[in-house]
Amino acid sequence: MTELELIARYFDRPTQRARLGVGDDCALLAPRVGYELAVSTDMLVADRHFFSDVDPAALGWKSLAVNLSDLAAMGARPLAFTLALALPDVDEDWLAPFASGLFECAERFDCELVGGDTTRGPLNICITVFGEVPEGRALRRNGANAGDDVWVSGVVGDAAFALARARAARGAGASDLAIPAAFDDEARAALERPVPCIALGLALRGISTSAIDVSDGLAQDLGHVLAASKVGATLVATCVPVSETLAREGDDVRYRCAFAGGDDYQLCFTAPQAQRVTVEEAGRKSATRVSRIGVIDAHSGLRFVDAHGADFRFPDGLTLQGFDHFA
Ligand code: ADP
Ligand code: MG
Repeated sequence: MTELELIARYFDRPTQRARLGVGDDCALLAPRVGYELAVSTDMLVADRHFFSDVDPAALGWKSLAVNLSDLAAMGARPLAFTLALALPDVDEDWLAPFASGLFECAERFDCELVGGDTTRGPLNICITVFGEVPEGRALRRNGANAGDDVWVSGVVGDAAFALARARAARGAGASDLAIPAAFDDEARAALERPVPCIALGLALRGISTSAIDVSDGLAQDLGHVLAASKVGATLVATCVPVSETLAREGDDVRYRCAFAGGDDYQLCFTAPQAQRVTVEEAGRKSATRVSRIGVIDAHSGLRFVDAHGADFRFPDGLTLQGFDHFA
């Protein structure tokens, strides 16, 4: 199969919104008057971001989902994406399910594939998404104000817990926490098929003062908001929403996964206290659980308290350092 045959067979689909999709030197998008284009790229590298033998349909889904999560965090509506793909060889038993998982996610969130690049090389998937947001209405990291509530969507920590279990099951331990080797369907879904919070992001426009998607651990990602907004925060450690599975684990596993996990793709956002009811409504409207987990402080730093406001002590030696490729 030639490169162009491969593209035609697996990645060339008619477009509705783009003026021009796959087949020319560029795709042509027609941004609407009064809107800004939101653009983001995320690369997934085999054996770094995923096990190279992972279900290709799940990988197709996740490759786009993690990119859409960045649009969600900005309150942008998905429009289109490009796909740069390096493949070790042409394996149709891999390409067909990869494309079907990818397009399943694309259709669910109404985002069309308009172009890309295909080369031979170590398996690597790089997607760029384009979204639109009314001028000046994007949710940014730099708008949190002292006194704002800190919120998080869904539950956090499941993907990190699942990854630790999968690694243990593969004998690739390397966790200092006692996490059982098991990789069941529930764990698999959290890790392999994250659902970007597009509807919530849209519903939070004009309500939340800042937002970020949680990809590298809640504490670390909230830290980016605090730095950009030049504020601090106090979180009620016991308020962090976790799944029933994670709730059954000991404090060390639960808090580490919830605050320093990764791959959650939930939104962490801030909003004035006066907007509590509106935020709850935005959650209902988008069928997304939202939990209030703390408050923004005028002085910098991230502090943790218990339900009574007393300093919270994590189990000895627990670090809340999130994920960093180069640390
Ligand atoms: P060029 O050499 O002009 O960059 P290519 O031969 O690389 O063009 O690609 C031909 C067309 O196929 C282009 O429109 C490009 O955007 C598209 N394309 C290439 N790879 C992919 C892919 N993996 N998914 C979607 N479109 C792709
Ligand atoms: Mg090319």
